[in-house]
Amino acid sequence: MVLITSSKVELADLWSLADEWGPEKIILVYDPDTKMRGVLVIDNTAMGPGKGGIRFQPTVTPYEIFLLARTMTWKCALAGLPFGGAKAGIIGDPAKVDRVAWVRAFAKEIKPYVPLQYVAATDMGTTEMDMAIFAHEIGDMKACTGKPVELGGIPHELGTTGYGVSIALDTTLKLMEKFNLLDIDPKEAKIAIQGFGNVGSYTAKFLDELGYKIVAVNDVSACIYDENGLDIPKIMKELRKLRRTIKIPELSDLEGYGKEPRDKIYNIPVDIFIPAAGSFTINEETVPSLISSGVKLIVEAANIPTTSAAEKILRDKGVWIIPDFLVNAGGVIGSHIEYIGGTEKQAFDYIRYKITNNVRRILMKSFEMGRWPREVALEVAKNRVRKAMLLRAGAIEVATEAYAREEYDYSFESEES
Ligand code: NAD
Repeated sequence: MVLITSSKVELADLWSLADEWGPEKIILVYDPDTKMRGVLVIDNTAMGPGKGGIRFQPTVTPYEIFLLARTMTWKCALAGLPFGGAKAGIIGDPAKVDRVAWVRAFAKEIKPYVPLQYVAATDMGTTEMDMAIFAHEIGDMKACTGKPVELGGIPHELGTTGYGVSIALDTTLKLMEKFNLLDIDPKEAKIAIQGFGNVGSYTAKFLDELGYKIVAVNDVSACIYDENGLDIPKIMKELRKLRRTIKIPELSDLEGYGKEPRDKIYNIPVDIFIPAAGSFTINEETVPSLISSGVKLIVEAANIPTTSAAEKILRDKGVWIIPDFLVNAGGVIGSHIEYIGGTEKQAFDYIRYKITNNVRRILMKSFEMGRWPREVALEVAKNRVRKAMLLRAGAIEVATEAYAREEYDYSFESEES
């Protein structure tokens, strides 16, 4: 089992990451002209080409990209999509380098693998514009998803991931209320969202539309808080307005809010905490504050936000964690619809359908078996990848038997035919 820790695996130790699932490739690239350094990890392609975003951040490491690629393997399998898992990283601050040149250089270096083994998308630090540059450099619109509408894309900027997160939380609360598992009145629950970028802001918007109360949000610059609930549409409108003068406006640029330091978010009394920023933000240092603030439920909108050690502490305190690869699959589900040429409406409908059913299914199993949702979700994902690996290896008899033994729904096939 891979432990999620924030400590780095040295380059020389990358082989230590190899296990029964992958990674199939770890590719380190360097472009001497621009000085761009990047990494691509293709974890497992048994179910299809490795799918995963390109993170553009100075702190990116091959180890982090590997963990994110592995998360994509489980996410695509759990969502029932014909994709494997992969992730890419460009090591640098997109605001401080020639980002067009760097994205092009990265695309040029990894071109032999795209799109047969790797299909890109946006992630922290990349936008639909970067996807346009990437697709043109590769010379194939199937090179990535999350492209601008003009290129047949369904941009992540429409909020597909945040939409999925809101559905995941809504479904979770309704189920937990039904089974009396959480001492929270959903409509009175206080919610904090860490990170107010693409995923965090749209999670806030869609939760607000569902009638939930978001009391705190933060980003890299500041935290804003109102115990009676923040006016999310107003905050989003003001940030959009600021874009006329500031390239990437932050919460600290807003006028008229009592701004607190960024990490105050861990201390605000809330029932539900939604990490929607970077990796490893819930760790041994931050978890005591979260527990003291009364958190009962963590819904992982970010990828790998919780270290294994922090998760153990939270479980011991009875805090429920709904795992990243179940919760934030909205983006990749929407990506699949883009990949097969579907529309924005189909993407949102499919996200709703898939996330509702998957969350229900995993949570019901979790309640029945008395096991944590991450364990149950991981087992379902692993079973699917294992079957696909058997099929890839040509072990048809073994795979057929495996399909027959498990919950493969043949009636669905006959309905279709
Ligand atoms: P983004 O770059 O649009 O936004 C990131 C936000 O986090 C920004 O508001 C930034 O200021 C803030 N931030 C950075 N460090 C922070 C810190 N220490 N504390 C508080 N805020 C901080 O990125 P995004 O696309 O919204 O991605 C956020 C997370 O969601 C990542 O973990 C990403 O892997 C995951 N995710 C993204 C997508 C997608 O479609 N974009 C899909 C699935 C998962």
